[in-house]
Amino acid sequence: MENVDVVVVGAGYAGLAAAVGLVEGGATVRVLEASDRVGGRVWTRDEGGVLIDHGGQWAGPAQTALLRFADRFGCRRFPTYDDGQHLELWPGSAPVAYASGALPRVHDSDGYQALIEQLDTMAADIDPERPGATPRIAAWDACTLQDWLISAGGSPDANRRLRLVVQGLWACEPRDVSLFHVLFYVAANGGLDPLLGTSGGAQDSRFIDGADAPARAAAVYLGDAVRLGAPVTAIDWDREGATVRTARSAVRARRVVVTGTPPAQARLTFSPQLPLPRRRWIARSPMGDVAKLHLTYAEPFWRSRGLSGQLTTYDGSPVAYTFDNSPADGSCGVLAAFIYGDDYRAWSTQPEEARHKAVLDVITVLGEEAAAPMDYHELRWPDQLWAEGAYAALPSPGTWHEHGAGWRDPVGPLHWAGTETAGVGHGYIDGAIRSGERAGAQVLTALSGEAGQ
Ligand SMILES: Cc1cc2nc3c(=O)[nH]c(=O)nc-3n(C[C@H](O)[C@H](O)[C@H](O)COP(=O)(O)OP(=O)(O)OC[C@H]3O[C@@H](n4cnc5c(N)ncnc54)[C@H](O)[C@@H]3O)c2cc1C
Repeated sequence: MENVDVVVVGAGYAGLAAAVGLVEGGATVRVLEASDRVGGRVWTRDEGGVLIDHGGQWAGPAQTALLRFADRFGCRRFPTYDDGQHLELWPGSAPVAYASGALPRVHDSDGYQALIEQLDTMAADIDPERPGATPRIAAWDACTLQDWLISAGGSPDANRRLRLVVQGLWACEPRDVSLFHVLFYVAANGGLDPLLGTSGGAQDSRFIDGADAPARAAAVYLGDAVRLGAPVTAIDWDREGATVRTARSAVRARRVVVTGTPPAQARLTFSPQLPLPRRRWIARSPMGDVAKLHLTYAEPFWRSRGLSGQLTTYDGSPVAYTFDNSPADGSCGVLAAFIYGDDYRAWSTQPEEARHKAVLDVITVLGEEAAAPMDYHELRWPDQLWAEGAYAALPSPGTWHEHGAGWRDPVGPLHWAGTETAGVGHGYIDGAIRSGERAGAQVLTALSGEAGQ
């Protein structure tokens, strides 16, 4: 049996950041990754000469852990295309055009803004590194965002706008997520405006060589420490350490850093079983439902029409949002489209041709050229074995309040990382990196304490 100081389960951004910190702290490390690539929920593929980010992709100026990690490995970014008019689609009316920065004063955008301000105000009471200390956690975690929306008394259009925000940020419906989790997430990421913003916000920039470039560079830096195609099946642990098993091997370690989505962790067999709060936390944290689609064109034709490519639909179309996802040099046009929640579940069960048509029908509002893409790609995240959904887990109502100790408290030699265990940056690549750095530092402290005994 191989012996190391630390096994890291998963080579997404959290696992890689943990491993980099551990190696630099002098620990011997083995990273076991189930799939045949690094990056996890960040997945860049060369699709016929065009780099397509099928998973996480954007970076914002507040996401300093991600920016630092990327800079360290020399991974360059470029601004997200944000020029020209954005479009909104509402039932029974012509598309509404507006410029970046302010919503059009139609369909009760003022009422919607008032809802956003209320959520931001409540979120200001939460310290994202100590969510359990929130004075109103019991009340806020007892209801869904849908319950709150009903009590807030917004107009149907304001509520419809907010539903799309919920889809866009959490890939679910307002009834699927606890009010407390929404407020925690908003607090963890600096407020709703920064989360929703393009220039200057969370969608500010993209990576020239794909969003997985820093992950690939980190894996090269770690060299032989990273083993791909090695799904961990079981972790036997005791006070002295743990034995981490795959189908073909076992590695003994003094400490383990476990990453991965809660549904992926639910497949691991822990012996002895984990304490109740952690088991409940994992079991009560499902993922969101989202498909990310890409359509490629000879050129970004919408730009010459004065359009940004950013489209938001409230008209019953399955597509919620589109973005200009063309490469940095604009050498071809790429549109990214997102489908979430109820719309995802209805759309994803249709035959391929019908799915494709449903998408093309709506995006032709950007120009008739949209109807004939050169290439079309769908990534349906709920079907990805090692994630089972995206963007991040959604602790169901009551989970934070009842099982808060299960969030990220270490269990014996087991430490938890992953964006789901992040305070600041929770849900994002930035949070994943912070969580890995935190877990790595915790482990180094524990190892040095043991060495001193
Ligand atoms: C469509 C989409 C869009 C997104 N957009 C953005 C965005 O624009 N900006 C942003 O910051 N974030 C975005 N995100 C979220 C971001 O991608 C995640 O927050 C982040 O990548 C999570 O990293 P992680 O390391 O915590 O988890 P993961 O990336 O899930 O890494 C966990 C790793 O563990 C591996 N694993 C699982 N089970 C096992 C096992 N049994 N044995 C071994 N290995 C295992 C998995 O294969 C995976 O590689 C998006 C995500 C998606 C899917």
